[in-house]
Order: sequence, then structure tokens, then C-alpha cells
Amino acid sequence: MNPCQTCGACCAAFRVDFSVHELDVEGGRVPAGLAVQVNDTLCRMRGTDHTPPRCAALTGRVGERVACGIYEWRPGPCRELEAGSDACERARVRHGLAPVANL
Ligand code: SF4
Ligand code: SF4
Repeated sequence: MNPCQTCGACCAAFRVDFSVHELDVEGGRVPAGLAVQVNDTLCRMRGTDHTPPRCAALTGRVGERVACGIYEWRPGPCRELEAGSDACERARVRHGLAPVANL
């Protein structure tokens, strides 16, 4: 099974910044209501700079069962973060989850 479906740690660990051109209002696909503007060129998934961070699009409980509410429209950084990568394993450690490599 895909380890991400029972994880979600990376959606509750890092700031998720991406180009404003990825917003639906700019011709992209990410719903603008779920993002906050950082500056003229960058925006950020809402909630990912909170303490503790948690993306507003994430549903469910981290480490149990989760889903991304905008999976098909999620921004580039979310598409690029691979299960088992260094960033993935760092996020899992922060949430007390075993490394993907050990599953
Ligand atoms: S931290 Fe890794 S396993 Fe967990 S949801 Fe993100 S990519 Fe998937
Ligand atoms: S948009 Fe989806 S995949 Fe990206 S951080 Fe938020 S919940 Fe996770």
C-alpha cells in the first residue's frame, strides 16, 4: 500500500511555497482560497507556516489515515516530494513514524 495514505507527515512539517502562477486565479490549478500570498511571485499553502504546521488541504489524522483534499490540483512541491526521500523521512521522524525504508 502507498505509505502516504497512512502518513501525511510532510503535509504537517514543512512550509509549502510555490509560484503564484500555479494558482487557479492565475491560470494554474491550485485553489487560491487554500493559499496565502507571500510576495509578488510566491504563495504558500495555508496552514503550512503555522505552529505546528498543517496544510489546510489535509484531511484525517497524521500517522493514521489522511488525504489531500486537492490531490489532483496540488502544487509542484507536493508532486515532487517522494516517499522515501530525505525530506519524507525527516517529516516522518518529526511525527514519530518509522522510516518508509523500514516499512
Ligand atoms: S512524509 Fe513521506 S510517506 Fe508521509 S505522506 Fe509525505 S511522502 Fe508520503
Ligand atoms: S496540498 Fe495536499 S499534498 Fe500538498 S501539503 Fe497540502 S495536503 Fe499535502
